[in-house]
Amino acid sequence: MSYNVIPITDGIWTIEDGTVRMYLLDGGTEAVLIDTGFGSGDLLGLVKSLAEGARSGKITVVNTHFHGDHTTGNRQFSHFLMGEKEVEFIRDACPADADIQTVREGDLIRAGSVCLKVLDIPGHTPGSIALLDEKDRILFSADSVAKHFPVYMQFPGQSVENYLAALHKMKDLGDKYDRICPCHGELDVEKAYLDKMIHCCEGILDGSIKAGTCLNSNGTLERAYWFEDVAIFH
Ligand SMILES: [Zn+2]
Repeated sequence: MSYNVIPITDGIWTIEDGTVRMYLLDGGTEAVLIDTGFGSGDLLGLVKSLAEGARSGKITVVNTHFHGDHTTGNRQFSHFLMGEKEVEFIRDACPADADIQTVREGDLIRAGSVCLKVLDIPGHTPGSIALLDEKDRILFSADSVAKHFPVYMQFPGQSVENYLAALHKMKDLGDKYDRICPCHGELDVEKAYLDKMIHCCEGILDGSIKAGTCLNSNGTLERAYWFEDVAIFH
C-alpha cells in the first residue's frame, strides 16, 4: 500500500495510510509525527523526504492511542511520547531500545518551532490524547472526531460517558482552533460538527436514540447509533 501525502498548511502534512491518517509537523530543527498508521511502507523515508527537521534532527512520534492502525509503523522510529494509560499497550509496537516517555494533560510538546498542547480525551480508549496546535489553530483530534466515518465505541474499556466529556472539553476550547483534523473520515471537520457528536452521545446515554446498523469497512454489520450523518458504534 502506498502513502498519500496532502499538505495541510506550511510545514504540516497529512499522510494517509489506507483508512487512517497521520500528521507530520516540521519544526525546522526537529519534527513531530502524530501516529504511525498501519506501517505499510517506508514511513521513515517519507517523513525525511518531506520535513527538513526530520532530516536534520530528532523525529518524535506522538501516539494518540494504542490501536494498531495508529501504532504499527512505530518500529521504524526511536523516540515516542504517549499517554500514561496507553504505554503498556504500545510498548510492544516500539523497538526494544526505544526512548518512550509519557505525557499528560496540559503538557507542551516542543520540537523546534512546533508546539503542541496535550489534551486528555479518554473514551475511545482510556488514555487517548488529542493535540492542540495554537499557533496554526488546528486541533488534532485523533479518533474522537470522525465525519462520515464511524466512531468505534463497541470494544471493552471504552466509555461513552467519558467520551461525551471529552467532546465537551474540545468544544469548550473552540476559540483556540479553526480546524479539526481527525485520523479517520473527512480531513477537515468544522467545529459545529462537535454539537452533532455530543447530541448522538447524549442520545445513547438517555435512550432517546435507538440502535440501528451500519456496514463496517471490513464488511461486518455493526450496531450503530445514528444522528444525522454521525454514526457511533456501541
Ligand atoms: Zn482508535
